Amino acid sequence: MEHRRKTIQQQVILDAVRELNIHATAEEVYDRVAAKHPSISKATVYRNLSQMSEAGELVNIGSFFGSTHYDHNCHKHYHFICERCKRVFDVDDYFPDLTEQLSGMDGFEITGHQLTFSGLCHECKS
Ligand SMILES: [Zn+2]
Ligand SMILES: [Zn+2]
Repeated sequence: MEHRRKTIQQQVILDAVRELNIHATAEEVYDRVAAKHPSISKATVYRNLSQMSEAGELVNIGSFFGSTHYDHNCHKHYHFICERCKRVFDVDDYFPDLTEQLSGMDGFEITGHQLTFSGLCHECKS
């Protein structure tokens, strides 16, 4: 992974992801960026989001409910998705043993894993 300088556009996008702080969807990031910088196109935002997740500056935590979600928290952790309000929460736990236990299975070299829990959040439960 080569080190490259962040462009101004990337910095603006990264700031938007941080400010949203709720595992923003690509759409939400675009809305946020466009509010301040109307000249940036949706395609530019989407392209930069995927480039930054490839570079390890953001984490693409997957597609839920039809939208790709991004996380600015690059530490290893899991996610919980509320089926009712559709918010994505951090689960600050990580089980490295899972990767170890499965290593060697069918000759795969496993370097990481993602785990997503689903159910009802504390607000929706009550
Ligand atoms: Zn909820
Ligand atoms: Zn997260």
